[in-house]
Amino acid sequence: MTRNALMLAVTGASLLFTLPSDPLYMPRAAHRAYDRGTRSLDGRPGRSYWENRARYTITLTTTPPSRRVTGRERIVYHNQSADTLRALVIKLFSNVHRPGAPRNFGATPDYLNAGVQIDSFAVNDATTAWQENPQRFTWQQVALPSPLLPHDSVQLGFAWHYDVTGGGGREGVVDSTTYYLAYFYPRVAVYDDYGGWDMMDFTGLQEFYSDFNDYDVTIRAPANFIVWGSGTLANAAAVLQPGPLTRYEASLTSDTTIHVGTHDQVTGHAVTAQDSLNQWHFTAQDIADVAYGLSDHYAWDAASVLVDDSTGRRASVQAAFNDTAVDFHHTVDYGTAALGWFSHHWPGVPYPYEKSTVFQGDADMEYPMMVNDGSRADTGLSRIVVEHEMAHTYFPFYMGVNETRYGFMDEGWATTFEYLISLDKAGPQKETDIYKNFRVSGWIHDPSALADIPIITPEDMLKSPAYRYNAYGKASLGYLAAKDLLGEATFKKCLQAFMVRWHGKHPMPWDFFNTFNDVSGRDLNWFWRNWFFSNVHIDLALQGVRKDAGGYVVSIENVGGMAAPFDVLARYSDGSSDSWHETPLVWQRDSRRATIQLSTRKTLATLTLDGGIFMDADTTNNRWTAVR
Ligand SMILES: [Zn+2]
Repeated sequence: MTRNALMLAVTGASLLFTLPSDPLYMPRAAHRAYDRGTRSLDGRPGRSYWENRARYTITLTTTPPSRRVTGRERIVYHNQSADTLRALVIKLFSNVHRPGAPRNFGATPDYLNAGVQIDSFAVNDATTAWQENPQRFTWQQVALPSPLLPHDSVQLGFAWHYDVTGGGGREGVVDSTTYYLAYFYPRVAVYDDYGGWDMMDFTGLQEFYSDFNDYDVTIRAPANFIVWGSGTLANAAAVLQPGPLTRYEASLTSDTTIHVGTHDQVTGHAVTAQDSLNQWHFTAQDIADVAYGLSDHYAWDAASVLVDDSTGRRASVQAAFNDTAVDFHHTVDYGTAALGWFSHHWPGVPYPYEKSTVFQGDADMEYPMMVNDGSRADTGLSRIVVEHEMAHTYFPFYMGVNETRYGFMDEGWATTFEYLISLDKAGPQKETDIYKNFRVSGWIHDPSALADIPIITPEDMLKSPAYRYNAYGKASLGYLAAKDLLGEATFKKCLQAFMVRWHGKHPMPWDFFNTFNDVSGRDLNWFWRNWFFSNVHIDLALQGVRKDAGGYVVSIENVGGMAAPFDVLARYSDGSSDSWHETPLVWQRDSRRATIQLSTRKTLATLTLDGGIFMDADTTNNRWTAVR
């Protein structure tokens, strides 16, 4: 982009916004989006912003213990871009099960199968040969018989089948009559303004990048199987017996947990309608994906919680679980507390859906309105995992970030919200220890080059542990460092503005950085560059302490180079103590050296630098002791 174009784009934006003196690195594709006006340099969607969307009508039949799942669907795909599309990219995620598919993990024999078998394919109601490139697995490019013009739509019809398998956590067989169905339907890949078609392989590591679509899904399952899933259960009266129906409806306004169906009621055939195949009908608008779980023996608990004070709207929290899973008997309580807290505190945006169901599997994975969590003996950990997965509702689902490429825009926030809610629920001391152990320690004590790869690196190019460091702990610390730098009120104002601007859209990392610069009225590029674009880590060294007229002057070297906040803890010769907090601002002028003035009339005995959760790689040089 030329400098003139940049100035032009900035004029007319917020008065507070000034041209960053030193722009952040951007790939050429991102520059192009700003040049074309689909995005604006003040951090807002541009005047020409667009995104594509579709309507999915799906019927799925599953009859456990048969592993066969058969589906039919009709997709109406709208091209809202300015481009003529001559081909579509179709994602077939379940082909990650095919032998030879690129995978980020070693597949056990029971994980492998033939993948998705397309039984028929139609474009605009004309049956069309389905042709696959055998060297591609989780996506295929499909030529259209006639080009899809801007602002026109195309209808696709698919019939397909696949077999659920064991051996993988995110979907498939939980037990012989409990299945979790995710990634199960052919779908149109995201076509966006800065990357074009998403042709990324699904390897089992990356998670979501999805358009906001409407879904009408019917799951056909035998009598006595309950089906839980994304969207409104549109025909509860047709699939539930009167008693459970009454309890289910009562749970939607109940603060306390109601047993909609106990294990004995479910296995005693006292919950579902007794048709040979019940049709569970779910509808949802403007969501990124759908997932379903079914079982003939899981218990079903539910309650609800107020999530929007201005409208009085409540959200339902449901749990589906093995009666023997002790922690799952508390899941509805964890969930209602979490949705209420997220709605009122951080991010302080009302939970956007009507419900969330936690289904016992072994994935610890989020889906819109659904969570698939393993059972644990440590109920404190079970609570944190429920909170983490529900926090994902905001990122990536409420905000359509491309987490397959920029996982830090999703896991980083879920980890940050997990930390903030847990400070409240578990207490600061316990949560600080948990966060350090789970999110920071592994990274900061890894001296290899993997630990220093900049967070902005496209994450489909990384494997664990580098992927995990960047997406979770480092990113979360980066957001919390920004909160320390800006103060809680300004940070929340920036975050909520970002969420208002980009809810239901596809923000890039630069839309986030630019929004925070714009809304805070500050040029924070030095900070973003340091945390998100640099090969740095946290390691401070206390270089020297000297007495002067006002007290003491402390010299600190930033060995690792990261602009992290820290505390200076003083102990005096009289036994008393004091502390000072330094925000990342101390590193703006010089990221390698800082001098701090401590005003005191007392005589220092020891001085310690302590970053708290901003753990220091080498703490042996963080302490100074007075010579006696
Ligand atoms: Zn996560």
